[in-house]
Amino acid sequence: MRAELIERIFADTAYVRMGGSAEELRTAEYLQGMCRELGLEARLEAFEVDMATVNQATLTVDGREIPCKGYLCAGSGEIEAPLYYLTEGDNRYTLSLCRGKIVIMDGYLGYWRYRDLIDNGALGFITYDGNVNYSDRDIDHRELRSYVSSGDKIPGVNINAKDAVEIINSGAKTAKITLAQDEYKGESHNVIVDLAGEIEEQIVFTAHYDTTSLSQGAYDNMSGCIGLLGMAEYFAQHPHRYSLRFIFCGSEERGLLGSKAYCAAHEEELAHVALVINLDMIGCIMGKFIACATSEMALVNYITYFGYEQGFQIKPYQDVYSSDSTPFADKGVPAVSFARIAGRDLAPIHNSYDTAAVMKTEHMQKDIDFITAFASRMANAACCPVAREIPDNVKEKLDEYLCRKRKKS
Ligand SMILES: [Zn+2]
Repeated sequence: MRAELIERIFADTAYVRMGGSAEELRTAEYLQGMCRELGLEARLEAFEVDMATVNQATLTVDGREIPCKGYLCAGSGEIEAPLYYLTEGDNRYTLSLCRGKIVIMDGYLGYWRYRDLIDNGALGFITYDGNVNYSDRDIDHRELRSYVSSGDKIPGVNINAKDAVEIINSGAKTAKITLAQDEYKGESHNVIVDLAGEIEEQIVFTAHYDTTSLSQGAYDNMSGCIGLLGMAEYFAQHPHRYSLRFIFCGSEERGLLGSKAYCAAHEEELAHVALVINLDMIGCIMGKFIACATSEMALVNYITYFGYEQGFQIKPYQDVYSSDSTPFADKGVPAVSFARIAGRDLAPIHNSYDTAAVMKTEHMQKDIDFITAFASRMANAACCPVAREIPDNVKEKLDEYLCRKRKKS
């Protein structure tokens, strides 16, 4: 893809676009316009998402007000209770101490973590993010996902890590959370482009275009969207035996909602999908290039060989990738995610540091060229060689990732 176009797209999309927001729709329409500019027809496919507007969110700890953001979709209410600090782990005794408390906790509020809080009688929760060594005091606007709450809502807030450290260091005893919000249904969109091939069987390409609340999402994941545009542009002018579908997914950061909605709405068509190729975070200045295959091992080995053939440094492995490839794999469609993974200190994501400043146009081009070369082999295969079944060890990882089974700690 042309360097100036890559740079223009990063510049044009340097704003926050959370799933379901007006800004996200603006980006969907922008991608549609960009497809048109490349001579391609793109359509928007809407799906329903939970939305919330927080009217009030306050946290006081031992009478002192702490800057916070209320968890979206965590209901409304006011609670005052003793404060309890819960570190990561699933010790039954320490969990039992959550009863009747507002729990400040380490780690991410995933499904099992939240179940622990509910089952052990916590009244409210406080999470934190950010970095004590950064100069900002940013607070990410988090959401209590519907599959996490499963209808059991207690009020929670997110705070900056600096305040979390101060709270614990001061030995604080009590907390009060006030949360008031309106919850309603909204819409997010997938943007879809089709390139008909010689046969009906499809290879599907995915990349999400939404961001978290503080992020411009250049690296995560306008980079992957540019990759998809580059490949669509390439295949519009080059032969491909397989039919190709490009899906720019909405609301990935909210729990893979766009790809889940796509798989639900297109369940019958999935039978004709030979392979999903997902791009999530490519083209940064530094970092290793990986391929995460949610498939049989043969694909991992093939990509290893292909890296040698192309003279391209790559680390392929078999696993579940936390991205839009996963809902497809869960429906039995083999999938592979490509990414260039930068160290956390080089290019952190899901915060205000994810901007075009961490990207390198030349690396974008090299990464896109490699993925295009791989995709071209698959798209022109007499028969796409990847077995259309997910091995048992990978199915188990899918069960864990999708919270059907708890991972043993
Ligand atoms: Zn991402």
